[in-house]
Order: sequence, then structure tokens, then C-alpha cells
Amino acid sequence: MKALSIKQLRKTYKGGFEALKGIDLEVEEGDFFALLGPNGAGKSTTIGIISSLVNKTSGEVNVFGYDLDTQLVDLKRQIGLVPQEFNFNQFETVRQIVVNQAGYYGVSRQVAHERAEHYLKQLGLWDKRDAAARMLSGGMKRRLMIARALLHEPRLLILDEPTAGVDIELRRSMWDYLEEINKQGITIILTTHYLEEAESLCRNIAIIDQGTIVENTSIKRLLATL
Ligand code: ADP
Ligand code: ADP
Repeated sequence: MKALSIKQLRKTYKGGFEALKGIDLEVEEGDFFALLGPNGAGKSTTIGIISSLVNKTSGEVNVFGYDLDTQLVDLKRQIGLVPQEFNFNQFETVRQIVVNQAGYYGVSRQVAHERAEHYLKQLGLWDKRDAAARMLSGGMKRRLMIARALLHEPRLLILDEPTAGVDIELRRSMWDYLEEINKQGITIILTTHYLEEAESLCRNIAIIDQGTIVENTSIKRLLATL
């Protein structure tokens, strides 16, 4: 089963800038996949389109067989998104932020509370559950967004530059956690501009530059050619 299938995806922003020039991409279920590229390459645009936050210009996007154009509600249920910027209400508590996500996905309050406890414990945030989110460190805020993204139990977790601004030690523990949930069966796609991050975590990789996929291979093969 394909977790993600993208065909001839194009994005031209208002003003005429071509951010994606017809990219093809396939990610198998269970994969840990990196989309690697320099700043401005089109990584966030790609992720934005997959998670329906950005409109595509043309092309096809399928997530676990659900089509972005015709099966959007089903498609969105498959995806948990961890965006780059902290986009939660900083004045809400950690637990509220996670539990509130339930409303978007028809998860009951009781189940939401149980899952929030589960994920906040796993991510080392349970002690902070009643703290306002603005009191958290950057690394904790990043983990809060992971807990929020997992609440509806998506099959595909997409992280946009997950370790940007996170210190080395925390980066390690976050990588360990991502590996663990991938082993539990969640397909993961992350964007990064560090080869090192892709290398130590991911099995397969696509390299994007100026809106074009320039390489699409396994990490093993990529490293063998360097
Ligand atoms: P990356 O995530 O790889 O850094 P982005 O997808 O954010 O790249 O951006 C790709 C290109 O599209 C960049 O040149 C960026 O300036 C441009 N871009 C991104 N968002 C917009 C927008 N809303 N309007 C116009 N251009 C944009
Ligand atoms: P509103 O239009 O009320 O602002 P949105 O639907 O844009 O609500 O999103 C509400 C919150 O949920 C935002 O913080 C958004 O980033 C987050 N969100 C939306 N879709 C997802 C998703 N698939 N996974 C994780 N968070 C999401």
C-alpha cells in the first residue's frame, strides 16, 4: 500500500513564482521518508499541499488511496501534521491544546483525554499538562505539537523541519521517539535541510531543489554514491 502518491504536482504562487515544477513522489506504508533540500526548495509547499493547507495548481495527490480533490475528509484523517511554526494558542494549557484537536476529527472527549494522557506521558510532557504552552521551552513546544498531531491516530505523520531550533540532546530523544512510533507502524515523512538528520533516521529520501526532485533513492544507496 502506498502511504503517499504524488503525480506531476505543480504550484505557482500568486505573482507567478513556480515553487513546484511537476514533482512525482511515492512513499510506501511503514516508511520513514526524508524530503531533503535547501531553504526555498519547495519542501513546505509540498507538505502544505498534502495536508490541504496550500492549494495546488495542478497534479494529483493520494494518501492511503484517498484523493485530495475528491476525498478530502478521509484524506485528512490519515494525516497528522507537525508544522514548522508554533501555531497553537500559547495561553491554553498543554492538555487543552492536545484535547481540543479531537473536535476536528470527531474523537470523543473521553477518548481524547485518555489519548492526551498517553501521548503527553510518552513525550515527557505529562508533568506540564496544566502549564500554559507559552511557559514551555522550544523543544517542549515541538513535542507538544507531536502529541497534538497524534491525537486522532493518523497513519501518516508529517513533520516540517522537526528539529529546527532544538538542541542536540533533545534532538536525539526526539529522533528516538520518532523511530519508536515508526516501528509501531506509523509512516513518517519529514523535511529537513540536514543530510545528517535524514541519514540517521530515514530509510528513503527524495532530494528537492528549486521545485524539482533531483534524486529519489534509499539512504543506503545515496551514501554509497557520496
Ligand atoms: P522550503 O520549505 O524548502 O524552504 P518553501 O516551500 O517554503 O521552501 O518555498 C519554496 C519557494 O516558494 C520559496 O522560494 C518561497 O519564497 C516561495 N514561496 C513560499 N510561499 C510563498 C507564498 N505564499 N507566496 C509566494 N511565494 C512563496
Ligand atoms: P481554524 O480555521 O479554526 O483556525 P484550522 O482547521 O485551521 O482551524 O486548524 C486548527 C488547528 O489545528 C490549527 O492549529 C492547525 O494548525 C491544526 N491542524 C489542522 N489540521 C491539522 C492536522 N491534520 N494535524 C495536526 N494539526 C492540524
